Amino acid sequence: MRRPLIAGNWKLNGSRDSATALATEVAAASSEIDVDLLVCPSFTLLAPVQAALGSSCVALGAQNLSAHESGAVTGEVSAQMVAESGCRYVIIGHSERRGLFGERDSDVAAKVQRALAQSLVPIVCVGESLDERDAGQELAVVSRQLDSALGALDSTALANCVVAYEPVWAIGTGRSASPEQAQAVHAAMREWLIGREAGAGNTVRLLYGGSVKPDNARALFAQRDIDGALIGGASLDAADFLAIARAAV
Ligand code: PEP
Repeated sequence: MRRPLIAGNWKLNGSRDSATALATEVAAASSEIDVDLLVCPSFTLLAPVQAALGSSCVALGAQNLSAHESGAVTGEVSAQMVAESGCRYVIIGHSERRGLFGERDSDVAAKVQRALAQSLVPIVCVGESLDERDAGQELAVVSRQLDSALGALDSTALANCVVAYEPVWAIGTGRSASPEQAQAVHAAMREWLIGREAGAGNTVRLLYGGSVKPDNARALFAQRDIDGALIGGASLDAADFLAIARAAV
């Protein structure tokens, strides 16, 4: 049985005060909800959010890390720095990183390696654009992204990863994939993982992301291969985020 993981991607949002308040509210309710909860604020908010989470079991994650280990790469944040900031998870290859900042499959693969080397759990984001979906290419796109990001990993490394299927056309649009559309891709991802290694393939958690809200979460989580969610907009509201988490139980 894969324990659900409910992850909030706060993106470029929040002040020190608002992020701390949000984390405090999530932490206060966390012990009543039997899922793994994770919040991913911006780098500079990691420390105050960590303090607000206190001894709760809500995990902390970053939204990105550098493909470089160290050196003359101004503005980058290394995997070691992310790990030393108290993060257990890191989002890698989000479609906004790929689309807005030109991250290529090879960059995503390098970042996955950096994360694993620091014992961080990479949440590897994959997903097709609307044009690719309209052309019926979603499975081919996702499989290419998985091959590149995870294809070189051994079974131990693979078992330490989480994959998030985030169709680009569903992120921040209010238009979620239907449970059936999401499940079809998740089933193909599960098959890809099992094809790599049966043990790890069965235990890796597959999150769905793209306009998950309290009113559509339960139907998504009822799907066999959907093990949780990566949530953008709705994670900025503690009540909505917690309602989605409750729908996963
Ligand atoms: C995301 O940012 O990863 C995301 C899924 O956003 P939203 O839930 O707002 O669609």
